[in-house]
Amino acid sequence: MVKKNLFVCSFSGGKDSTALLIRMLESGMPVDIILFNETGLDFPEMEAHIEKVEQYIKRYTDIGITRIKPEKPFEYYFLEHEIHHRKNSAYNEKFGATHKGYGWAGPKMRWCTNRLKTQPREKFLRELRKKYNVIEYVGLAADEQYRLKRKNNQRESCRHPLVKWGMTETDCLKYCYDRGFDWGGLYEKFSRVSCWCCPLQPLSELRILYHEFPDLWEQLKQWDNQTFRKFRADYSVVELEIRFKLEDEWKAAGRIPKGKDFFNALKEQLGVYDEKINIGQFV
Ligand code: SF4
Repeated sequence: MVKKNLFVCSFSGGKDSTALLIRMLESGMPVDIILFNETGLDFPEMEAHIEKVEQYIKRYTDIGITRIKPEKPFEYYFLEHEIHHRKNSAYNEKFGATHKGYGWAGPKMRWCTNRLKTQPREKFLRELRKKYNVIEYVGLAADEQYRLKRKNNQRESCRHPLVKWGMTETDCLKYCYDRGFDWGGLYEKFSRVSCWCCPLQPLSELRILYHEFPDLWEQLKQWDNQTFRKFRADYSVVELEIRFKLEDEWKAAGRIPKGKDFFNALKEQLGVYDEKINIGQFV
């Protein structure tokens, strides 16, 4: 039996997938499902954007946005999930046969992409594929063609209209801004807008998080205190905070927080912090 086509538009809420969705609807292209992965780690401004898009698209369609969630929330996987390490593996040696929680993602261990995004999405699509010929529209911009080489973007069922339309990341952002979507200014602060707590984001963006999102920063510190893996190879969250505070002090004193003198001063402050930790004084 020939399966009926089902057109699924992947929507992360970012500039590219927002431009993709809106342009598809404006052009009258078929969209049966708008699929959004709810990780629980979006900026509040992004959550507001998703709702704004949902209102906006009512002029074209009544299908709404389908939100899919991971089986368990981030905090469970981060702190509670039982991890078993293979005998003789480096992890086994370091952490024992089992330990709780994946901790922070690292460049080679992006467990959260899999648990929070890929798995729930694939599970949802697997069910649909039993009944339909699923055609997936993905918001890959024309200047991100290197991502086309990735295996999951090469699937025959995958379509990349932004590439076909020649819309670059800058074009996508402008397209959205022109229609009144501004993400509460997130794209003026961050180059990529994904999970606010991602340890893989650049230092410059963590600095913005520290200065402009104090509630999220507090949450980040709390999580960092509860897990075994350091936030980044070079800094824990508290150590980052020490650095950012020192930078502010130097700026206030008219000094540029860079170079050997700055890093010597930072080293000294981090040393004081380490000592306090060792004698249990740090709170
Ligand atoms: S953006 Fe960072 S925290 Fe979020 S899923 Fe990807 S690696 Fe994990």
